Amino acid sequence: MNERSSYYLTTPIYYVNDIPHIGHAYTTIAADAMCRYKRMRGYDVFFLTGTDEHGQKIQQSAAAKGLTPRELADRTVVNFQELWKALDISNDDFIRTTEERHHRTVQAIFKKLMDQGDIYKGKYEGWYCVPCETYVPESAMGEDRTCPDCKRPLQMMEEESYFFKASKYTGMLLDYYRKNLKGVMPKSRYNEIVSFLEGGVRDQSISRTTLKWGIPVPGDDAHVVYVWFDALINYVTACGYLDDRVKFEKFWPEARHLVGKDIIRFHCVIWPIMLLALGVAPPVSVFAHGWWTVEGEKMSKSRGNVVDPFDMAARYGTDPFRYFLLREVPFGLDGDFSEAALVGRINSDLANDLGNLLNRTLQMVDNFFGGTLPPVEKAGPLEEEIARLADETLAEVDARMEDFAFDEALKAIWAFVSRGNKYIDETMPWTLAREEKGAELGVVLNTLYDVLRLSAMLLAPFMPGTAARMWDQLGLSGAPADMRYEDVKWGGREPGVKVRKGKVLFPRIDLAEWRKAREAESKAPAPAKEQPAIEHEPTVGIDAFRAIELRVAQIVEVGEIKKSKKLYRLTVDLGYERRTIVSGIKEFFTPEELLNKRIIVVVNLQPATLCGVESNGMLLAAGDGTHTALSLLTPDRDIPLGSRVS
Ligand SMILES: [Zn+2]
Repeated sequence: MNERSSYYLTTPIYYVNDIPHIGHAYTTIAADAMCRYKRMRGYDVFFLTGTDEHGQKIQQSAAAKGLTPRELADRTVVNFQELWKALDISNDDFIRTTEERHHRTVQAIFKKLMDQGDIYKGKYEGWYCVPCETYVPESAMGEDRTCPDCKRPLQMMEEESYFFKASKYTGMLLDYYRKNLKGVMPKSRYNEIVSFLEGGVRDQSISRTTLKWGIPVPGDDAHVVYVWFDALINYVTACGYLDDRVKFEKFWPEARHLVGKDIIRFHCVIWPIMLLALGVAPPVSVFAHGWWTVEGEKMSKSRGNVVDPFDMAARYGTDPFRYFLLREVPFGLDGDFSEAALVGRINSDLANDLGNLLNRTLQMVDNFFGGTLPPVEKAGPLEEEIARLADETLAEVDARMEDFAFDEALKAIWAFVSRGNKYIDETMPWTLAREEKGAELGVVLNTLYDVLRLSAMLLAPFMPGTAARMWDQLGLSGAPADMRYEDVKWGGREPGVKVRKGKVLFPRIDLAEWRKAREAESKAPAPAKEQPAIEHEPTVGIDAFRAIELRVAQIVEVGEIKKSKKLYRLTVDLGYERRTIVSGIKEFFTPEELLNKRIIVVVNLQPATLCGVESNGMLLAAGDGTHTALSLLTPDRDIPLGSRVS
């Protein structure tokens, strides 16, 4: 392949007057992940997003604020531009429909279609709200033909309008879809569009005289081009339809649109018919994704449950938010957003699986080899199996991305990461170290290192910031986003690389704390309770205190003890060894809340047998003496397991 293949992907252009919400963020993050992936696969990518700035609503909002529509658009477009920065969106262009390049393109297209006889003047009839100055389609009307916005009765109105001969091209589009089974994705939407086309398409009214804020119809200033006709053309404007034919010929044949399912008729019927009339091929595919509810309810301003993506990224981090949206729900289906589910994924997938693997591996390279990856000896069958899984994972990600199945691609990457964690359990590197089996330990750490290196590369499209941090901690040069898949082969690591262990990737979120904080946000602060006087224990000398050996440990296993409602059997990792502790904390924590938690353990307590299980130590916790609250003592930052507390 001498010349690089091209790839063109767009989001819809967002209505500039909208407050950006999770739906906007979702489409744009998905498009971004796809474009970053394609770049890393060697494609020459053109990634477009932008804003739709014409129409009645802008005109009215601007008038209400004493601004011109253009002034209002200039102010509000920033909401989107800033959001895309905050969410690490790598778009190559941002189009605004008020731009001069777009005006010229829309007018040129209108004129061409008019000249060839595909646009004619007729009468538009519809239900009209006079105060809102807008037509309301039957599907959006309130009860008894009322306006959905102001609830006032609608009137039948008639005005002169230009019409586009969509009916003429319906059969041609149907033929196109019968030959291009992925012209609309997913399959359910494809079927919906084909059956809609089989019912026939009416000619479309594409101009208004009741509206002023828009692009004038060429040669007839009484009309402006209807917003949908104007908006759809953005996809070819930015691609150089009028001004840059080289760019257009390069990218348009590879054009794909991501849209919400509410706007597929425009994108899968009207738009491709406009293109066919222009003698231009329809996009390769239009993918319609689903909608988000919030904690089971439809998102709406009146419910006050609109999820602010700025807020989510600020609170939980850009990458966890990106990861959650793409991982939680199959692209194309509806999904439900809840912060609790997001926190759950941060703790399990990100902190537990991915963060832990990086942390444990680098810690061992530090502890056992002074931070330098040892030269690798011959790998065994276990390592060969993982190398095969690496190849399979790459192939699986490729296949899934081809179908926009982001969740499946991420599942495949996570299966690979989990295999890495399981491999640590299988090979028990701390035991190898204790037994001074340096060569075997070297193989294990090299294998883990490669799992992490490949994972960082595979994750880069989804979580670009995290991948870069992993890359840096692995001591690699450059950035994963600049890599091509073929640069990052299994076993292709440089010998003697020095790792740079840094901050943990994803600090675990303490669920009890998190719940408390959420509750506090929704409630006014409760009045402070009166504290009973506290009776202290007799004083002890410093030596008596030092005699108690306290160390940092991590809970790696939580087991039930039959017959006991209060006790858990915990396996804790002290870094240099693992031991069993029996602890009476079952009433306060679920196993999930405890797993992987870092705690403080008294390691030189006399062993005791509780319910038939020998306990070798005790964990530290603070309680208020009642059965309602208990808090585990936990180090406030990342510190090696086994560190002494003093
Ligand atoms: Zn109204």
